[in-house]
Amino acid sequence: VGTKLPAVGTTIFTVMSALAAETQAVNLGQGFPDFHCDPKLLDAVTAAMAAGHNQYPPMPGIPALREAVAAKIAALYGRSYSAATEITLTAGATQAIITAVLAIVRPGDEVIVLEPCYDSYVPNIELAGGTVVRVPLTPGTFRPDFDKIGAALSPRTRAIIVNTPHNPSATVWTEAEMRQLEALLAPTDVFVISDEVYEHMVYDGARHESAARFPGLAARSFIVSSFGKTYHVTGWKVGYVAAPASLTAEFRKVHQFNVFTVNTPMQHALASYMADPAPYLDLSAFYQRKRDLFAEGLARTRLKLLPSGGTYFQCVDISEVSDLGEADFCQWLTREIGVAAIPLSAFYGNGFDQRVVRFCFAKKDETLRHAIDRLAKL
Ligand code: PMP
Ligand code: GLN
Repeated sequence: VGTKLPAVGTTIFTVMSALAAETQAVNLGQGFPDFHCDPKLLDAVTAAMAAGHNQYPPMPGIPALREAVAAKIAALYGRSYSAATEITLTAGATQAIITAVLAIVRPGDEVIVLEPCYDSYVPNIELAGGTVVRVPLTPGTFRPDFDKIGAALSPRTRAIIVNTPHNPSATVWTEAEMRQLEALLAPTDVFVISDEVYEHMVYDGARHESAARFPGLAARSFIVSSFGKTYHVTGWKVGYVAAPASLTAEFRKVHQFNVFTVNTPMQHALASYMADPAPYLDLSAFYQRKRDLFAEGLARTRLKLLPSGGTYFQCVDISEVSDLGEADFCQWLTREIGVAAIPLSAFYGNGFDQRVVRFCFAKKDETLRHAIDRLAKL
């Protein structure tokens, strides 16, 4: 065919979910909740449809939801974005990220990614004709190494993609780290794509350090989030981008031709549901309890837990349990133990294998207990 993405196969999430279904394993691989969203949110969808909100919305999204997003960002992170010119609703974070990349990356531009990274970033950059510059997060701790990031900057660097709370490692950037990024980029024209889809899942009293809190970052950032993560509706595929007006204008030039608009009734439902901040303010406590329940069970196995400071992921070191590499271990675990997980190597371009796999704990307590019963054999 003359493929544009020679290194790309089917995503690991699709592969592991299919294997989990085929083997009837407990699926702690792909990140999605196995429980229902708030029934109030479902009622709001039905109401929106019955009220006739079923045709194309405005290209950047309905004003009420853009205003609700702007109000949330102002309340939590202290920066005011114009709903009219600086917030755009997207078909999930996935479309937000590729659209931002296509809007700014020109052939030959370099884009820095911090590995391990979410699996869509690299193909997005390649589709835009950009050159991927991979900088490792510090092995073992997954913290950003600003010497390495600084060394990767060049006159051709167009953008850097950052992600906190971080998938897959579950680390959360500190205020000091965000300030270091801000200082490092200050003398440059580099844009930031700040993937903050897990912004409302931060544990142990830490706070989410949105790029919106830092003037020098906010001025150059496309801040991306996703209602799918926050409201337990990953299949709805609604997210948003907050970016200064000049960046948003470029973003919308692309957005109007890759989706044009995002489905209308869900936007109306989300707009009315967002009036109550409790669901997102309570989310960290909700997931911290699940993290602890799962961690307690894992502590009885020979899997070694890595810290989970945010996201709904728990990484574990498998080296005491098995001699297999990560990918083979995940296959074995799914088939023989009946629990699906994701190998961290899927988040590296060179398949780097550090004997660590990722579980998703966005599951009913009974699902987590069921998984723990099976994992107890390890
Ligand atoms: N970025 C990260 C880090 C993610 O984990 C995900 C969800 N898998 C996405 C982006 C995509 O989000 P969405 O489902 O809203 O497209
Ligand atoms: N973001 C989810 C994860 O990391 C999966 C999304 C997807 O399947 N593309 O598991």
